[in-house]
Amino acid sequence: MQLPLYALAAEQALRAEVASGFYWHIGSARPSSLRLEKYEGGVPCAIETALGYAMDVVAAVRAGQFAPTPTDGGCPTFCPAAPFCEFYEAKAW
Ligand code: SF4
Repeated sequence: MQLPLYALAAEQALRAEVASGFYWHIGSARPSSLRLEKYEGGVPCAIETALGYAMDVVAAVRAGQFAPTPTDGGCPTFCPAAPFCEFYEAKAW
């Protein structure tokens, strides 16, 4: 969601249409293969989809619904909430 939301912010700040978007891999000094313009429907559809998800999250949080959900196969070991999260599930190895 980050890339299309940044694209939306750029469009609004610069009053211009974003034609492309990608991550820049600093270590290899290369653009990512993930390209915003490759999204089905292009950049505008990517922005619209991300905005829809973002607004769903905002509505859920405003309604008090923001319970964490473990991913399939358990929680990642790097999750900082693991020591106190009531939804923690150990990763199945
Ligand atoms: S410990 Fe909690 S917050 Fe962390 S990944 Fe698991 S469910 Fe999500």
